[in-house]
Amino acid sequence: MYQSLLLVLTLQATPASQAKLSVHWAELSAPEFRDAIARAQGTCLLPFGIMEKHGPHLPLGNDLLNVRYVATNAAQQEYAIVFPEYYFGQIFEAKHEPGTVAYSRGLQLQLLQETTDEMARNGCKKIIIVNGHGGNNSLLPYFAQSQLESRHDYVVYTVGIMRSGQGEPRRRSNPATDMHAGEGETSLSLIARPDLVHLDRATQESGADLARLKLPEGVYTGIWWYARFPNHYAGEGAVASRELGEFAAKNWINGLVQAIRAVKADSESLRLQNEFYERSSKPLETRP
Ligand SMILES: [Zn+2]
Repeated sequence: MYQSLLLVLTLQATPASQAKLSVHWAELSAPEFRDAIARAQGTCLLPFGIMEKHGPHLPLGNDLLNVRYVATNAAQQEYAIVFPEYYFGQIFEAKHEPGTVAYSRGLQLQLLQETTDEMARNGCKKIIIVNGHGGNNSLLPYFAQSQLESRHDYVVYTVGIMRSGQGEPRRRSNPATDMHAGEGETSLSLIARPDLVHLDRATQESGADLARLKLPEGVYTGIWWYARFPNHYAGEGAVASRELGEFAAKNWINGLVQAIRAVKADSESLRLQNEFYERSSKPLETRP
């Protein structure tokens, strides 16, 4: 009796809304989730990774592991709910390498839409897709743009990879071709998951730019990446350092914290979206 009374008093002293809440969707109980949505002001992160080769020295889930490291740290500084593991993006260009999981184009878009719809149905009215994979760089703005196709009661924002910035330590390899599993990315992996980085294997394959396509600037074709980097490896992972990794992690986490704060403060996007949906349902009434 005394013990249960003490428990009640303790519970009253620290209501769930003030207790420490996990940032991870999957770790929250249902009642905690309600408090978490309130604390996050409806702001949720969807860290977006991929399963693909990362040179001979990094894990297949490298982008997923790194982006979740960044998202988790940022959400702990500026509270937001972090959606579970998501890696269903664009990666057709690595289908010739072992371990690549490349879902079809239609499914990528449908799954992403149903995922953000479900997040929003649960109170995530501001969804920040945190992209950790360069192959999604065209997919995600297209997805965000296509939210204007039909009415949504939530806003999708996207944030890209922010490893580089002012004050960056000096590079040991050419930044222009440090594009995949090279110095910059491997350095961040040394911070996020050092146990999965095998620096001694990084020179077993070449990450050199073969530059096999000669097309004028502004002409795009899908095989461009394979033409340049057939090993799906671009740069020199072997020269990665913890110093550069610490900078990259801090820069990206800080950038994401700023983004979460800006999104929480933004009420204009949803207001304008609603105005737009309203007007787009009767375009003949639109006057300049
Ligand atoms: Zn990567």
